Amino acid sequence: MPVLKTEAIALGRTDYSDSSQIITFYTHGYGKIRALAKGFKRSSGKHSSRAIDLLSYYQIFFMRKEHTSLHTLTEAVLLNNYPALRSDLDRYYRASYIAELINEFTMENDPSEQLFDILTDTLAGISMDQDGTVRSLVFEIKLLKILGYLPEWGRCVQCKSRIQQTTGARFSAKEGGVLCKKCQTKFTHGIPVTPGAMLIAGRLAEVNFQRLDRVRLQPSICVEIEKMLRYYIASLLNKELNSWKYIKV
Ligand SMILES: [Zn+2]
Repeated sequence: MPVLKTEAIALGRTDYSDSSQIITFYTHGYGKIRALAKGFKRSSGKHSSRAIDLLSYYQIFFMRKEHTSLHTLTEAVLLNNYPALRSDLDRYYRASYIAELINEFTMENDPSEQLFDILTDTLAGISMDQDGTVRSLVFEIKLLKILGYLPEWGRCVQCKSRIQQTTGARFSAKEGGVLCKKCQTKFTHGIPVTPGAMLIAGRLAEVNFQRLDRVRLQPSICVEIEKMLRYYIASLLNKELNSWKYIKV
């Protein structure tokens, strides 16, 4: 069995036995994978350094099994554990949310270099910034874009009229975008939104990660975009995410 090497972020883990765990990684080369980590379990004794920390960046080596989706982890070299994430609960919850989104939205063994890059850029950014609100909004929007779920925010999804020229717009998860007042009569679902927040959400889909530290948004706009995204994500996944309990909007 060949040993494969790739860079990876640890997203989650579950106990498998007294001395082993199953770790879910999002990897650069293979997308999401699950690997059995024997003897890597955290213990209070001298072996604690072999534990795999969640939300940490590793170079991993694993044996790929043919007939099962559970691989075997043979080595993990820590590249970055983003120490600032671990000293601040708000940052830690935001980073956990990013990991939960990746885990929920991806299938195993379906790699995306773009997703891996926004994941590592966002974890590094959240660990550096005082306030990770904009970083997590941009991550949510770019994830939707990469996976082909980006909604229509600039125009009514039905009649294509520009959102700036309409009043009383609503965002419909089912229709995948905003509806002007006229077109809402045919649809009863959706949440009220303002044209300003919709236009900013559309711009965040295009923003360059290197320029993110210069982006300043009004808190009320961030709240509106985040509420819309949660409503839309819950509709796409057909469930609420655990992290929402810890990050209030
Ligand atoms: Zn319309």
